[in-house]
Amino acid sequence: MKTKSYEDVSLFISMVAEKNKWKLNRDKEHLEIITEGLMKNFNRYGYFSCPCRDADGIKENDKDMICPCDYCVPDQNEFGHCYCGLYLTEEFFNTGTEPGSIPERRKS
Ligand code: SF4
Repeated sequence: MKTKSYEDVSLFISMVAEKNKWKLNRDKEHLEIITEGLMKNFNRYGYFSCPCRDADGIKENDKDMICPCDYCVPDQNEFGHCYCGLYLTEEFFNTGTEPGSIPERRKS
């Protein structure tokens, strides 16, 4: 399996945001943590398992939380951003509010 560099993952994140017209968290430190988490998960499991959730390591069991996860849009609709606070709606971004902690929508 070909591993991904930090730059590869940054590019992936930016492309997903652009395609969906989402904004990225403006807190660079937070963005770095999430980017590193996605990179680690990809290089470990072979897919972008959500860095804010415990992966099973079996793709079939984790498929709902492969970034951008199935919960991203419902969470954006309700809270303005995804569970990790990575992807923000433009509307939320423009309020200048920092994404906070939100309830876990995924059933364990
Ligand atoms: S919560 Fe955010 S970072 Fe985590 S998988 Fe979903 S979209 Fe990606």
